[in-house]
Amino acid sequence: MKCLPNEEQLKCGFIDFAQLAVELIERSESNTKYLKFAAVNAQVALELFLKYIYTRNGKVTEIQRHKKALPQNDFVEFAQILNHYYSQRRWSYGARREFVSLMETRNSIIHRAQKTEWDIELATSVVRTLFFIHSTWNSEFGESLFERSYGLPNSLAYNKVWRQGVDSFVDRLAGDHDTEVWTCLDCSQYTVVTGEFFGLNGAEGPEYLICLNCFKSINTEGEARLIKCFECHEESFIVDAYNEQDLQFYVGKCSECGVNGRVRLCRNCDEFYHPINGEVFIEGNYCCSNECAECLSDEVV
Ligand SMILES: [Zn+2]
Ligand SMILES: [Zn+2]
Ligand SMILES: [Zn+2]
Repeated sequence: MKCLPNEEQLKCGFIDFAQLAVELIERSESNTKYLKFAAVNAQVALELFLKYIYTRNGKVTEIQRHKKALPQNDFVEFAQILNHYYSQRRWSYGARREFVSLMETRNSIIHRAQKTEWDIELATSVVRTLFFIHSTWNSEFGESLFERSYGLPNSLAYNKVWRQGVDSFVDRLAGDHDTEVWTCLDCSQYTVVTGEFFGLNGAEGPEYLICLNCFKSINTEGEARLIKCFECHEESFIVDAYNEQDLQFYVGKCSECGVNGRVRLCRNCDEFYHPINGEVFIEGNYCCSNECAECLSDEVV
């Protein structure tokens, strides 16, 4: 007799299918026939993921088939699961119509050998589906599909399909939440958001800036600070805060206009500032303003 999968089985399932979808989307750049396999894998991952969410929340009966009001050891159709999922939520990391279309595409691929030609909309939809799984899992249960990248940007970061998919996901996320987006200093994509809207293992919390394209992250209360740029005046000048040079200098770079420069850490208020905007030198110390210089000389006296 059929029995329903448990939480662990569903979790292993959606992770495996999602990871394979990532690999296939990467391969599809050089050989477009892989797109159809990526799409099928992403759809299966999504289906298993939604079943996992219901199972983990103890609400599996809501997506079980019923016979004479008795729950059966089987799930309702995926389209019904999708409808139910969206009827319970005001906002989601993915759009329902996109997932309906992915489901229809999957059916065309596996039942009719159709929809197998290259289609950039389908390719980016696969990427957005993977980000939906990652972000929903992360925001609801603190777990994640993708990991923070510590080394060089991963090879995916230079894959065109991946980049376009990530771009469109970030666009929607930023639009819905009216949040700022920065350019990544590692991969140069305009895909960095704060940890308030996107979490990665090892980079969780609003103090992080995370690139969704290459998964690099910086902690703006730790190794880096974000200050206003002296050139373009955006809040996008990133200071390497753990690397003090001579004369209270630290190096930094603007993620918007690309200007490099050295900033100082005020000896009094401990804030970084651009010397070009004015500073005061007093008793061997650099300060950001007259007020800070006065405070500092009061302390010395
Ligand atoms: Zn990046
Ligand atoms: Zn700038
Ligand atoms: Zn100061």
